[in-house]
Amino acid sequence: MLELVNRGYVYRAIPISDEVETYLRQCFGADRKMYNLHVAYLYDYLEKNDYQIGDKLPSLKKMGMPTVSAFKKQAVSDDHVAYLYLVDAFASNEAKQHFNKAVTAFNKIAYKKQYKKAALKRQKTLGIEPTFRDLKGMPKFHSRKGSKSSYTTFNQNGNIYIEDDILYLPSAQKSSVKVVGLKLHTHRPLPHGSKIKNVTVTINTKGQFDVSICVEFPKEIPSIGIPNRILGLDYSQSHFFVDSEGKKANYPHYYRKMKERLAKEQRILSGRVKGSNRWEKQRLLVSRLQNKVVNQRKDWLHKKSYALANQYDMIVVENIDLRAIGQNKHYAKNQQDNGFGTFRLYIKYKLEQQGKYYVKAPKNFASTQLCSTCSHKNTVLKGNVAVREWDCPSCGAHLDRDINAAFNLKQYGKYFTKDEILPQIVVA
Ligand SMILES: [Zn+2]
Repeated sequence: MLELVNRGYVYRAIPISDEVETYLRQCFGADRKMYNLHVAYLYDYLEKNDYQIGDKLPSLKKMGMPTVSAFKKQAVSDDHVAYLYLVDAFASNEAKQHFNKAVTAFNKIAYKKQYKKAALKRQKTLGIEPTFRDLKGMPKFHSRKGSKSSYTTFNQNGNIYIEDDILYLPSAQKSSVKVVGLKLHTHRPLPHGSKIKNVTVTINTKGQFDVSICVEFPKEIPSIGIPNRILGLDYSQSHFFVDSEGKKANYPHYYRKMKERLAKEQRILSGRVKGSNRWEKQRLLVSRLQNKVVNQRKDWLHKKSYALANQYDMIVVENIDLRAIGQNKHYAKNQQDNGFGTFRLYIKYKLEQQGKYYVKAPKNFASTQLCSTCSHKNTVLKGNVAVREWDCPSCGAHLDRDINAAFNLKQYGKYFTKDEILPQIVVA
């Protein structure tokens, strides 16, 4: 079956001239400036309207937030920032979307009345009372010194295209830069028949440019028919996962070591004077390590999910609420490390790409409590994570908690095949 698929491709890129580089930096600046205008307006509004800690932020409409074009006009007359007119219009529009998202995200946690650590420290050592600006999640000013800058632009009537490894982006009517091109370092070409939807240009702390190109392309999805090779995956706190064949994920040690190193360097950073040269140097080191940790983890998750998706026709996972686990104090840390949610996503799309099956067992399916030999339900295990091995009170089978659960998931996949997939295949 031919289907339209969306995917993002990231390439290292070099602006084709100094003028283009300047133009791109202006776009980043416009995005930041527009965002900060929104934040400034918000703070002003909250002060004038006697905002109470714990309250949600009002909608942009209720605040009377000016439109993007009104902000542009105002910014030009106030501080002569004419460049808001000289850049890609999307760069400023996106800022509004981002701001809106930040408001929504804050409103979800507003009731917690949590202050940032730094503000609490200030209160303790200097006696400075925290204000609403110090609330966790409150939209804040984006600084030029931030870790990276970016802007996103959208394809309209083919004004974004690639020719001879150069990516061409739209310019602004009033800009003197007419051709905005970036030479791509294409290690992997875009799929055949790709349509570019949008592009995000990013500059990192080292001054390197990256472009993330989001494309849509037609892809032939094969039909594999009835799945033969089925695997159950049980999420495991200590092993990441255990599968129905008794194999453990072998979460790599190097990653854990990197995390330890990162924690150490972060402690050093928090001990230095903010804004000082030594602080700046340490901040760069921490940001490099953070990047490395993120990349290592992604790389491992991709490789592991790729291998499984190739080997099996169907993979069955629990419908476990990972966020609930993440909020549990004892597990929170480990959970963040693990990224099992991301892993599930990777598996899902890698399977579906091949016309294979990704199945989430329903919430009421007690994969842990069922005996995989006789189907007896052992409710003693419910919520009791300490029991790693158990004997079935009904049939006496000796069971490993994780492997038993994974095996039950595999069994569920088999039933699912009979009830859900087979009829469809027969009808078609
Ligand atoms: Zn049993």
